[in-house]
Amino acid sequence: MITKVKNRINTILSHLIENTFQKLMSLGLTMRRRNLEIKCSECGKLIFNYVKYGDGNLVKCHKDRIIEDHSEKDGKKVKCSCGNVIGRDRPHMIKMKGHAVDLE
Ligand SMILES: [Zn+2]
Repeated sequence: MITKVKNRINTILSHLIENTFQKLMSLGLTMRRRNLEIKCSECGKLIFNYVKYGDGNLVKCHKDRIIEDHSEKDGKKVKCSCGNVIGRDRPHMIKMKGHAVDLE
């Protein structure tokens, strides 16, 4: 009886571990994590240190993924200290303006 229960628990556990592992693997393969230096395209100054997932263009910056913030705020405008407007402030993200920044 006890052996039966033990075997059952072992089976359930190994299934759980396998499922979790597969999910993590598929996430890791589809969502590439990159550390980006986002620099002003006008003066080259570092504006954000940012963690980006996936390969697409940088359309928006999620605020909780900005590691370092050197930007300046002017109302809803987000700017470099040189005056170049790089995006607009939204509740949880910054909507990036096209060609205002360089990525490294
Ligand atoms: Zn600048």
